[in-house]
Amino acid sequence: MKEIIRIALDGPSGSGKSTIAKRLSSTLKILYLDTGAMYRATALKAISLGIDTLDELGVSTFIDDIDLQIKYVDGTQHTFLDGEDVSERIREPHVSMAASNISSLKCVRLKMVDMQRKIASEMSCVLDGRDIGSYVLPNADYKFYITASVDVRADRRYKELMLKGHSVEYNALKKEIEQRDYNDMHRDFSPLTKADDAVEIDTSYMSVEQVIGKVMSYLK
Ligand code: C5P
Repeated sequence: MKEIIRIALDGPSGSGKSTIAKRLSSTLKILYLDTGAMYRATALKAISLGIDTLDELGVSTFIDDIDLQIKYVDGTQHTFLDGEDVSERIREPHVSMAASNISSLKCVRLKMVDMQRKIASEMSCVLDGRDIGSYVLPNADYKFYITASVDVRADRRYKELMLKGHSVEYNALKKEIEQRDYNDMHRDFSPLTKADDAVEIDTSYMSVEQVIGKVMSYLK
């Protein structure tokens, strides 16, 4: 394998990208950048300022100067906003839809993509997101498009949130995932799409081990 490798993992919410990315990162000893966390933190910033996450003019007042930092503590990504570790807060259910909304704004995407490219230029890494292979790193060495049926994805997210003690209603969660899929796929700028040269893997009926095995088979 060459010295610096870049792996792009794209796909809709709950398809299993982050689980795969974390495993690849620890197996290959490369950096993992969860780009969704950056959109989530940006949404949190807008919420804290009382700015509507679809208000491009409002968001443009803070986006250029946003104090958003990604740090690694014992190999795990932590997201800092204005100096505060918001890694837990950005996972709260209400932030998901806000992140989906704010990520449709061009000024937000330009800023995030710029930061992501900077991080990825420095070392081997695996990035997960929606537009990594198609836009952020079009020259990534490996590209995967990870999918799963909406029922399977809603089921996974439901179990994950319940385990964390959030009380959520399954049907509402599934609807929200469908809405986020729609938003991600239909935004004007840099939508969720499978890059032409990405390998598509449907994880609906695969175990984590099977998916890792399949991904690894392409890396050899
Ligand atoms: O991956 P995660 O669900 O944490 O991402 C939160 C939101 O950020 C997604 O719903 C998506 O709209 C947006 N996102 C994006 N582009 C990325 C990563 C995430 O638009 N590269």
